[in-house]
Amino acid sequence: MMIPTIPTPDELLDKGFRRGKKAADLMRTQKIPKHLKGKKIEETRVVTSCQVIKDKLKSILDSVPEIEELPMFYQDYIDITVGVDDMKQALGALNWAYGIITQLEKEYGAKIRKNPSERATSFQKQAYGRLASVVNKIKKDLDFLDFAKANLRNMPTIDFDATTIVIAGFPNVGKSTLLKQLSGADPQVANYPFTTKGIQIGHVERHWKHIQIIDTPGLLDRPVLEMNDIELNAMVALEHLADTILFIFDASETCGFSLESQYNLLKQIEQVFSEIPIIYLFNKMDIVKDVEDQEYIKPYVDEFDDAIFISAIDGEGIEKISKKFDTIKKIERESEDDFY
Ligand code: GDP
Repeated sequence: MMIPTIPTPDELLDKGFRRGKKAADLMRTQKIPKHLKGKKIEETRVVTSCQVIKDKLKSILDSVPEIEELPMFYQDYIDITVGVDDMKQALGALNWAYGIITQLEKEYGAKIRKNPSERATSFQKQAYGRLASVVNKIKKDLDFLDFAKANLRNMPTIDFDATTIVIAGFPNVGKSTLLKQLSGADPQVANYPFTTKGIQIGHVERHWKHIQIIDTPGLLDRPVLEMNDIELNAMVALEHLADTILFIFDASETCGFSLESQYNLLKQIEQVFSEIPIIYLFNKMDIVKDVEDQEYIKPYVDEFDDAIFISAIDGEGIEKISKKFDTIKKIERESEDDFY
């Protein structure tokens, strides 16, 4: 979403009045019958000012798509970052101003045309007064949209046709190392609320299937029970995206979290994403070497009959993950059908 620069009411009015003056000055140089000239100048001034201001309002309104028609993920995103209701309210106010200015333009254009030219200037002044009052009434809405512009820039670009895998696991278990291993190129980095480094999106092509892998540092790497409502919402937004969760254990525990607490995190994530299948990975197997020799790991490994053992750092086991990706089914979601 590329919202254009949002002006303050003063900037908007200045621009409108300046362009109105320019157009009026140009009218002065035209050959027009004397009794009409004064009227023509003031009518031009009013109509031009109104149009310039309306054009700017329209460019802002056009830059924001219908929120209800966006995929659920983006609706959630807008709600978490700026609030959908506030956004609608601000856009509604701009729409309102647009309508009123259209009326003023018509009303004062006609008044100036139909009345004697001595009265043209006073109608023009009246029109400017009302224009200023309308524009000043949407000050808080323009302020809000300026805030929204800043917060909604660099939104993640999601491919809704792709199969989406969301990575979860405590910090330092090897999530970003794995993302790089799987996707090769540098991941796309975009803003995402409550993530420490933004969201990272890597892409993989496999048998003509496009897979996007998302890492959310700061969000899916800490206990869900400690989150507040809005952080939970930020997490739930991912539920509208994920076709599979890739949960990474650090089998070596060198990340600083015991397998027991990693297992507890998994249980919480399973609860939040109850509809989404999970792939279980045990990473850093280069340190652990043989699971059979490590009593502390056994109870956790035994929980899963299809866990994958890897070493993200030297690419060991990556092919097993890719093979697993081939079996992932894309979850069909209604809102996306509506979108396309
Ligand atoms: P994230 O915070 O979960 O994204 O973890 P990182 O990918 O940043 O990895 C944290 C640390 O673990 C880094 O120093 C990595 O080099 C290291 N690391 C990641 N995967 C492995 C692995 O398979 N084996 C070993 N020995 N170290 C790893």
